[in-house]
Amino acid sequence: MKSQKFNFLLAASAVILVLSLLLIELRRNRLVSVESPNRLVMNTISKIIAVAENKKIAQASIETAYNEVYRLEKLMNRFDPNSQLSEVNRTAGKERVQVDKDLFEILSLSIYYSKLTDGAFDVTVGPLVDLWRKCAEANSLPSEEQLADVKKIIGYDKIILDGNDYSVKFAVEGMRLDLGGIAKGFAADKAQNMMIKSGAAGGLIDLGGQIACFGKPKNDDKWIIGIRNPFKEESNKVLMKLALSNAAAATSGNYERFYTIKGRRFSHIFNPRTETSAQEVSSVTIISTNGSESDALATALNVMGVKKGLELVEKMGTSQAIFVPAENNDTLIKSSGAEKYIF
Ligand code: ADP
Ligand code: MG
Repeated sequence: MKSQKFNFLLAASAVILVLSLLLIELRRNRLVSVESPNRLVMNTISKIIAVAENKKIAQASIETAYNEVYRLEKLMNRFDPNSQLSEVNRTAGKERVQVDKDLFEILSLSIYYSKLTDGAFDVTVGPLVDLWRKCAEANSLPSEEQLADVKKIIGYDKIILDGNDYSVKFAVEGMRLDLGGIAKGFAADKAQNMMIKSGAAGGLIDLGGQIACFGKPKNDDKWIIGIRNPFKEESNKVLMKLALSNAAAATSGNYERFYTIKGRRFSHIFNPRTETSAQEVSSVTIISTNGSESDALATALNVMGVKKGLELVEKMGTSQAIFVPAENNDTLIKSSGAEKYIF
């Protein structure tokens, strides 16, 4: 009698399990996937895909995600004189400037990654970037004197943050923050949060190759993304494909944005210590749990090079790195856990 009852319970549980699985599968099959047309944001081409119960939710989640990116761009674009970052750059050398909590957060994160990378990542590079840009326009290399002047006004240890009132101050006048090495990753994270809040079951945010994704695509288990080959001019030349879920990825290198002086190519990423452009690698792809980290590390590892860069990611354990070295560039160099993401 007892065993009959037990068998009945077992059968009932099995039926419930099968029905629940069916229901989950049915729900997933009913999901829709909406892909936004390409839009120009943060000086790059972007695209967002949303997977949701219906088209309305998917579309709304794409819109809220874009609104978030536009808002952050307005806050952090140092080339827009009306941005809050421009106000900080104009004023923080003289007095404390209170900022939006997102600007405060990205500055805190930036300092965190500066410390972690021993200063390879440093958002105070603004004056150095400006100097090299001016030199490229004049087709001349920066002079020792110019570099010495810039040296005095860069260094992340010269940013003074006060969490009590979300204020920023510079230790010396003339400093200029440049968030180009982390803003897209940060924006992708925030956009993703907005999509989740507005009910999307899955999504992919692509801000010019800066990727954040969550959940699953409609008909697959992982999001498949292509990483461009730095040695092929055409945009459709893919170096490798990555299969990601709940992850972020970024690629930084000297192939897309660079300066040319006297026929020589200089990366747009600079070593804050030597004040020269990073030359150790052609590109670095970072896979992380969040966009800010992938973006900051992709920039930093261009400066640190293969050996130090690998040491860092292995020690951290939260990111993987794939390098295209400057020489012997047909052999990729990967951190120990990178292979499983390669499709
Ligand atoms: P993108 O994704 O636009 O190629 P990256 O993430 O590679 O940008 O960052 C490069 C940008 O970061 C540069 O254009 C400059 O604005 C800024 N930058 C340059 N060198 C550094 C550095 N050492 N640390 C932080 N930011 C940097
Ligand atoms: Mg970056």
